[in-house]
Amino acid sequence: MSSNDYIEKDTDIVIIGAGAAGMMAAHFCSLGGKEVFLLDHNKEVGRKILISGGGKCNFTNLYGSDPKDYYCENPHFVKSALSRYSPWEFIDLIIKNEIPYEQRLHGQLFCKRSAKDINKVLLSQLKKPNIKLLLERKDLQVEKTEDGFKVFNELTVLNTKKLIIATGGLVLPQIGASDFGHVLAKRFGHKIIPMVPALVPFKIDGFSTLAGNAFIAGITCNGHYVAENVLFTHKGLSGPGILKTSLFWHHGDPIEVNWLPGQNIEQILLDTPGSSRVDNILKKFLPNKFVDVFFERICVDGKLNIGRLSKKDRTKIHNELHHMKIIPQGTEGFRKAEVTRGGVCTSKISSKTMESQLCPGLHFIGEVLDVTGQLGGHNFQWCWASAHAVGQALK
Ligand SMILES: Cc1cc2nc3c(=O)[nH]c(=O)nc-3n(C[C@H](O)[C@H](O)[C@H](O)COP(=O)(O)OP(=O)(O)OC[C@H]3O[C@@H](n4cnc5c(N)ncnc54)[C@H](O)[C@@H]3O)c2cc1C
Repeated sequence: MSSNDYIEKDTDIVIIGAGAAGMMAAHFCSLGGKEVFLLDHNKEVGRKILISGGGKCNFTNLYGSDPKDYYCENPHFVKSALSRYSPWEFIDLIIKNEIPYEQRLHGQLFCKRSAKDINKVLLSQLKKPNIKLLLERKDLQVEKTEDGFKVFNELTVLNTKKLIIATGGLVLPQIGASDFGHVLAKRFGHKIIPMVPALVPFKIDGFSTLAGNAFIAGITCNGHYVAENVLFTHKGLSGPGILKTSLFWHHGDPIEVNWLPGQNIEQILLDTPGSSRVDNILKKFLPNKFVDVFFERICVDGKLNIGRLSKKDRTKIHNELHHMKIIPQGTEGFRKAEVTRGGVCTSKISSKTMESQLCPGLHFIGEVLDVTGQLGGHNFQWCWASAHAVGQALK
């Protein structure tokens, strides 16, 4: 059906949002023969999939997606859906479609060729007579009717008993993200957990001369510890270690950085002849440029020989190298984030069917909900699993 065709119809299921969650839900919901309409205001489906994982889409995680990989006000909410659709079921789909993929660090699975492969698989599942994909359906509105919902715009009037909202979070408004799902949820009485960018770089002053350098550091934030690569940027810090940390960070919180995890600088200094320069010792473990900036930042003369260091400076070097406290000025925002933390509160959503307990027939899946996965394919896994849950309930 072309984007300009007018349609007016009673149907079984309408899904708004043809991203990862919406496309997968259309497939699962169609399996029992029901008619499913999948609507999006974009010209093409799955725009976020195409740019995910650096264009290679980290589509799931081989080590599994565990509830502890998710940030949600109700940590139990994800359990039911995740347990009924494991990463292996998605991997199976990938294998059946002969999509080449590869495993990277920490069990992350990526396409070998391109994220386009994932979109193709999801699109191929939509090619059934009982699924109708309607793109470029802009300014959609929803009205509650006696026995369901009317979804409409100037080209569309669909009356349906079941409505699934899969409109995602607020990240990348430039490619179609909107607060449609949140506004609708609020209208039906759902609480919205405040939305902030997550899996996002931090803005931190004083490191811009190090832009491009990267090494493994240990970062602690609000009781969570991550030891992974940290990348210095012109605006502050990024890299997997920082993106992962941002999931637990709230504005104003300090982060504690161990720039040399697995080592003890005090012991290293004790084991080194007193005539050696302190900065040269550190340069054996860390990039030269970083060491210079480090000593500048902590106001200690790194050119001193170890033997001439005061006890105070020794302690300072140890504390700042292993426990540097930094308060990021902020994050780089929704334009640079991978996901939205917060969203439709899950307290009034059935974890089994994804149905609203305040408005029967209305379902929410994917990132529009207050469910945020850790870096590593867990956000897509949530999309697949929540889509499967709604499909099982409605098909
Ligand atoms: C740069 C980047 C890289 C990422 N990499 C990964 C990765 O490698 N692995 C991973 O697991 N996660 C990754 N993510 C996160 C992942 O892409 C999202 O969590 C996931 O796409 C969410 O899927 P969704 O279907 O819930 O929402 P979306 O993918 O955002 O889809 C929502 C759909 O709804 C449509 N829509 C929105 N508003 C309206 C409206 N008003 N009317 C009609 N349609 C509307 C949108 O056009 C869109 O098609 C990445 C995200 C970004 C931004």
